[in-house]
Amino acid sequence: MKKELLPKFKEALEEEKTKLENELSTFATKDASIENNWDAKHVNREDTDMEEKADEVTEYDNLLSLEHTLELKLKDVVSALEKIEKGGYGVCEKCGKEIEEKRLKVCPEGRLCMKCKE
Ligand SMILES: [Zn+2]
Repeated sequence: MKKELLPKFKEALEEEKTKLENELSTFATKDASIENNWDAKHVNREDTDMEEKADEVTEYDNLLSLEHTLELKLKDVVSALEKIEKGGYGVCEKCGKEIEEKRLKVCPEGRLCMKCKE
């Protein structure tokens, strides 16, 4: 890949990282002991009736899966940023070939080339 493209991808990844962290921090707390690990806050209200409680549980389940999705994406973004620093960015983790530029433009944190992704 062309070297002059790296700063552009780095910028996009850093933006994405900030966005993901902001999104996560609205409903989850960062786990201080494990790097890049987040825990969804569990809203606990005692003065609710059963029906509302059930709603809360569903809501919490949704938050957990959202938290999981965002956390996984954040991990990919962080690891892509590390690769930009240390080298090896834009190389498919499966076949070792370069990941297509057009794919990285859409998804700069991508770890696999288009062929391996399919
Ligand atoms: Zn590949």
